[in-house]
Amino acid sequence: MTAFHRLSSRPWALMVALLAALFLGCAAPEGAPLEPIVRPQARPYRPPVPREVVVVVHSAAAEAPATVELGLSVRGRPIEGIVFEGTGGCVLILGGIHGDEPVGSALIERLAEHLRTHAADCAGKRVVLIPRANPDGLAAGTRWNARAVDVNRNFPAGNFTPNSRHGRTALCEPESRALVVAIARYRPSCIVSVHGPLRGIDPDGRAASWALAAEMAALSPLPLKDLAALPGSLGSYAGNTLGLKMITYELDRKDPPAWNRSSYLESHLAALLLAISNG
Ligand SMILES: [Zn+2]
Repeated sequence: MTAFHRLSSRPWALMVALLAALFLGCAAPEGAPLEPIVRPQARPYRPPVPREVVVVVHSAAAEAPATVELGLSVRGRPIEGIVFEGTGGCVLILGGIHGDEPVGSALIERLAEHLRTHAADCAGKRVVLIPRANPDGLAAGTRWNARAVDVNRNFPAGNFTPNSRHGRTALCEPESRALVVAIARYRPSCIVSVHGPLRGIDPDGRAASWALAAEMAALSPLPLKDLAALPGSLGSYAGNTLGLKMITYELDRKDPPAWNRSSYLESHLAALLLAISNG
């Protein structure tokens, strides 16, 4: 019995064989090996990669302050201002006009450090910081400058009194001239001068100074305190002669504390920042 005869005796088997031959003959060329069906591997899901998003912030880097030289001391030390630029008016804050009060310089330097990383706290203002208004006195640890003159009695206020401690004439000292140069150049509406250790916030001049001093006292460990308008002082000159908002910020010590220096200085930042925004 031939194979045909065997299949023809089973019609269903013959039909399967014919269909298989027909399929194989159409699906592949004669003699070609059958290729396995290769399905593409399922790829693991990866979220779409977003394009880089650049957020423009009011960064400290973009607002990096400039350091400007306002003058030289008797001994030739630079009297420097740190200037944060802004267009909404100007506030000038200084420390160390009395060289035996380094706490004022430390507070201004702490404020500069804060503003470098919190540019919004400049409130859009130009802020001029002078940490070391009397660098010779600070170096020597004396109240006076290198000619034994009290720089804070050498301004051309109406109450200037010439003598050996106040200077023969107003502005005869380079340190007081440097501050007047800064006032003329930047035209601040408000000046804060940091001293110690008389513990109080002392306004000079018009009512706006008193209002600002009261606002600052609400945020400060220091009370509002009316100290006298001293002869030839920066307070007398800026507050009474020029009519600016003028605050003498008297800390309760001359030297920054050794063991809690950071928290001590930071406790006064809020009042100074208020002077920047409202001054
Ligand atoms: Zn002082």
